[in-house]
Amino acid sequence: MDKVLVKAILQSVAITILISTAIGASIGLIAQSAPIGFGVFILCTVIQFIVGGFLNTKHSQANQQMQQALLAQAAEIKIPFDLSCAYCNTVNRVPISLLVDNVFKCISCNQLNRVYTQFTTTRITQPLVNKVEPGEVNMEENTVRQTTINEPIQITK
Ligand SMILES: [Zn+2]
Repeated sequence: MDKVLVKAILQSVAITILISTAIGASIGLIAQSAPIGFGVFILCTVIQFIVGGFLNTKHSQANQQMQQALLAQAAEIKIPFDLSCAYCNTVNRVPISLLVDNVFKCISCNQLNRVYTQFTTTRITQPLVNKVEPGEVNMEENTVRQTTINEPIQITK
């Protein structure tokens, strides 16, 4: 079992017994009776377990409600995309949700379009500038020249 969980359970049991012992001993001393003290100890322990269980249930219910609210919130999040209509090719700005089916009506032809969402992967590439070792390409040499708008490369024979 999880060490953290075991520690939490042992801690909880220790606190429960400590509280029960304190209350049981106090009432036992006041009543000058060991059986009454022991009875109060048992009663306190049982009450604490019942209250603890009740609080736990409430806690997990609250957690579940929060999770559902989060999911509902996530479903409402929409990202705008410019998509062309499948009938007339007009570009429509469409809010897209990743959790629900997306359908939109074209602003031009009023046809209903269903949005097909696809994910693809690519390799991560490095720009050539980072790959070439400095000094490998000597820009000073006459063979390599960079073109600019002000100084277009002249082709000479
Ligand atoms: Zn259209």
